[in-house]
Amino acid sequence: MATSNPYDNMLSYLEQAAQILGLEANDYEALKYPERILQVSIPIEMDDGGIKVFEGYRVQHSSLRGPCKGGIRFHQDVDLDEVKALAAWMSFKCAVVNIPYGGAKGGVKVDPRDLSKKELMRLTRRYTASILPLIGPERDIPAPDVNTNPEIMGWIMDTYSMMKGYAVPGVVTGKPIDIGGSLGRSEATGRGVLIVTQETVRHLGLNPQSLRVAIQGMGNVGGAAARLLFDTGFTIVAVSDISGGIRSENGLDIPAIQKHLAGGSTLCEFSSPGVSHFCGGDILTADCDILIPAALENQLSAANAADVKARIIIEGANGPTDVEADEIFRSRGIFLVPDILANAGGVVVSYFEWVQNLESFMWDLDQVNKTLEKIMIRAFREVVGISEAYQTSLRMGAYMSALKRLVAAKNIRGIFP
Ligand code: NAD
Repeated sequence: MATSNPYDNMLSYLEQAAQILGLEANDYEALKYPERILQVSIPIEMDDGGIKVFEGYRVQHSSLRGPCKGGIRFHQDVDLDEVKALAAWMSFKCAVVNIPYGGAKGGVKVDPRDLSKKELMRLTRRYTASILPLIGPERDIPAPDVNTNPEIMGWIMDTYSMMKGYAVPGVVTGKPIDIGGSLGRSEATGRGVLIVTQETVRHLGLNPQSLRVAIQGMGNVGGAAARLLFDTGFTIVAVSDISGGIRSENGLDIPAIQKHLAGGSTLCEFSSPGVSHFCGGDILTADCDILIPAALENQLSAANAADVKARIIIEGANGPTDVEADEIFRSRGIFLVPDILANAGGVVVSYFEWVQNLESFMWDLDQVNKTLEKIMIRAFREVVGISEAYQTSLRMGAYMSALKRLVAAKNIRGIFP
């Protein structure tokens, strides 16, 4: 059934993958439900002395293959169904790239633009204290997601460490380097997007120099992907963020745009010869060869899927394509690399960060990037192999690859008691 509820979308792909693999209902029944859900109220003293209470969640979907892992999102549209879906996608994502984690996600319903930095810090610390019983290096390790960043991860690490009485860098990843962050983590999701884009281009026998790219979202994922693709010789013809979109037929100067954004200005305030402005949503139907949605869920739907011009879609965001759009892209023969593979670079380097924290040993950047590349290429080829063998979409191939590993873990561990 077509739906834009992200949790129902996840269930629909899970069911399809299980059917193609010929699994028994018992094999995957437990994966339809999150293992644990914690809802918290987060009272904050605002700068003016008033009290505001925010709603927060931490959802652990599965710990079958290892400690739960997943980011924390601060956004006004956060709700439980979204956090549940994001947590489940983390379980599948970690299984696709075969790193020893389960899946989790956290979220606070807040527009961080409405908070001062001190209010944001108090919110982060109180939220961390509220979810403290669930998190820890052996049980559940948060990381950045939409509107959260290394500084916020540092506050989480400090809050947890203060409550324990000693420094625990391994409780969270995506931290600043000075307190145990990993080299290469800040751009890792974008680098993963670059690697799967390059693999796609190779697989399809295309010339990267001739490919025009459009990217929705210029944050951690979209911004890093734009820069790395630009540096590698792709032509980025259009980018957008929440303020709007810009386009140039001859290619945008991504470093200049990032300098502009780093100065606190918005994309819609950027001007340069040959650059035109458009309404942000139009990025999805922009004239391009490769579309990278790297903002939020359900951006591609029945309303715009038929008008998408790209022949390749690389899902930088989690869940940017709803079930109906997915079917339209499949029938149109668009080569779509699904989120649980395409944006897995972030969690892979988060895994390296956690390993470095547990070993108290720091890797150099070359080791981080080379190991990331090896893992992403291996996963890409496995997913392509499965989807070719079963004549399915890459999304189904990725779900099937993940599901096989999750079911194998369940069969070995059994159901307690
Ligand atoms: P971010 O907060 O750093 O950036 C989000 C970007 O999207 C910003 O440029 C924002 O302006 C833009 N945006 C927001 N709403 C928009 C809209 N309606 N139209 C156009 N642009 C819009 O977030 P991020 O960390 O880059 O995450 C983006 C996506 O990638 C999310 O789906 C997230 O779950 C996923 N993801 C993030 C990571 C990570 O390591 N940060 C890893 C895997 C997946």
